[in-house]
Amino acid sequence: MSAMPDRERADASIGKLFESHAATALRLRRSGATERRLKLTKLLNAVLDRKDAILDAVQRDLSKHPTETNLTEVFPLVGEVKHAIANVKRWMKPQRIGPTMATLGTTSRVMYQPRGRCLLISPWNYPLSLALGPLVSAVAAGNTAILKPSEFTPHTNGVIKDIVSAVFATDEVAVVEGDAQTATALLSLPFDHIFFTGSPDVGKIVMAAAARHLASVTLELGGKSPVIVDATADLRGAAEHIIWGKMVNAGQTCIAPDYVYVHRDVADRFVELCRSTVAQRYGDSDAAIKSSPDFPRMIHRRHAERVARLMDEAVQSGSRIAFGGASDAESRYVAPTLLRDVPPSAQVRREEIFGPVLPVLTFDALDTVIAEINAAPKPLALYVWTKSERTVEALQTNTSSGSLCVNLCIQQFTQHNLPFGGVNNSGIGSSHGFFGFKAFSHERAVMSAGPLSALEMLFPPYDARKRRLSEMLLKYMT
Ligand code: NAD
Repeated sequence: MSAMPDRERADASIGKLFESHAATALRLRRSGATERRLKLTKLLNAVLDRKDAILDAVQRDLSKHPTETNLTEVFPLVGEVKHAIANVKRWMKPQRIGPTMATLGTTSRVMYQPRGRCLLISPWNYPLSLALGPLVSAVAAGNTAILKPSEFTPHTNGVIKDIVSAVFATDEVAVVEGDAQTATALLSLPFDHIFFTGSPDVGKIVMAAAARHLASVTLELGGKSPVIVDATADLRGAAEHIIWGKMVNAGQTCIAPDYVYVHRDVADRFVELCRSTVAQRYGDSDAAIKSSPDFPRMIHRRHAERVARLMDEAVQSGSRIAFGGASDAESRYVAPTLLRDVPPSAQVRREEIFGPVLPVLTFDALDTVIAEINAAPKPLALYVWTKSERTVEALQTNTSSGSLCVNLCIQQFTQHNLPFGGVNNSGIGSSHGFFGFKAFSHERAVMSAGPLSALEMLFPPYDARKRRLSEMLLKYMT
C-alpha cells in the first residue's frame, strides 16, 4: 500500500472527527458551571489515578527523575485543575457594565461564551502539563478540543490518551497523534480557536494557517530569556536559583534563564558559586553527573547534537568554558556548562539554547544591558537578581517581556492568578487560571434598552434644540 492513500485516510478521519465536534460545541454553549466542574473533577481524578504511569512515561521520554516530574508536570497541572474547579462558576458569571453618558438608560454586560471547536497543539518539553493544562482552560470555558501532542513523547502521549478517553467522548475531546504533517492537516480545518505552544518559527506557520479561517489564536512561544545579576544581589541565592532554573529538565524549558548578564565586580564569584552548586547537586565530575539520576537528557539525538554544536561554535568564536562542555549524542547527554567571554556573533547568543548551557556575560552599566535587551526580540521572561528598587524600577519601565521576575525564576508558571504568556516573538495572548479561561472564551457584548432612551430624543427630523443637545453631549461626554 502506498503512503499517499494512508495520508489521505488519516486526513479524512481527522475531518470526520472535526465534524463530530460541531453538534457537541453547540450543546456545550448551554453547559453550566456544574457540568464543567464535574468534567474537571473527573479529569483531576483520572490524572491522579495515573500518577505512577505519568512518572514512568516522562522518565522514558526525557530520563527525568520522578520528583522533578512531580514538581514540574504533575504539580502545575493538578494546581491548574483545582484552581479551575474552585473558580469556574465565578469566572462564568456575566460582568455587569455601567452605562456611559451616551448610553444612559441601557444596561450592559460581558458574557463569556465558549469559542467552540478548539485545536490544541503542544510541544515535547513538558509533555503532560503543556497538553492537559490548556485543555483544563478549554473545558472550563465550555469548548470541544482536539489535542495534538508532540510526536517526540510517545510514552507520555499514551497516558494522555488514556486520561482523555477515560473522561471524554471523542466527539468532545480527542487526542490525535502525529508530526508536522498531521498538524498541517488539522490546521487546514476551520477551528474557532487555536492554542499553540511551541517555537516562534512554527508559531508563525500556525498564525498564517489560522488567518485562512480567521480563527483566533493563543500562541505560547519561546525565545531567549535574559537574567541580570547586579552588584547588590545575594549571589549565592542567585546562583542556586539560576542553576536550578537552567538545569531543570536539562534546560529544555521555555522560561529557562537563557543567558546571564552579571556585574563585572561580582562575576568571578558568581561563576564559582554556579560551579559549586552544579557539583553539589549533580556531581563534581563529568562521569558523576552523567550517572546522576537527577539530571535529565535531551529529548532526542538531534537536539543533543544541536546543543553540542552551539557549544563548539561558541568555543571556536573565542568563548571560554568555565565548567562542563562535554556531550554524548548517543546517550542524549549534554553536561551542565557555563560559558564566558561569549562574543555577540556566537550562535549561542542569537538562538534559544534550550539546553543546559549558560553563557555568562559581564556588564558595567545597566543602561547598556537594557539597550541590548530592547534590541533583541521581546523575551518570554526577564529575570533580575538585585536588592536595588531602582534597578527593578528601571527594568520594569524600560523593557518589555512576558513576565518580569525579581530574585526568583520559573515560579511564575505556578502562580495561577497571573497571566502566563509572551509578547510578540515570545507569544500572543496568555494562559493559566482566569486568563486561560478568557483565552478560550469569546467576550460577548450584550446590551439591552431600558425604559428611558437618551437616543430617542435625538432622532430626525433635526431641529435647533437637537443640535444644541448634540453639542452638549459632545462637550460633557466622558
Ligand atoms: P515546535 O514548534 O517544533 O513543535 C511544537 C508542536 O508543533 C509539536 O506538536 C509539533 O508536532 C508541531 N509542529 C512542528 N512543525 C510544525 C509545522 N510545520 N506545522 C504545524 N505544526 C508543527 O516546538 P518544540 O520543539 O516541541 O518545543 C520547543 C519550543 O517550544 C521552544 O521554542 C520553547 O521555548 C517553546 N515552548 C514554549 C512554551 C510556552 O509556554 N511559552 C512552553 C514550552 C515550550
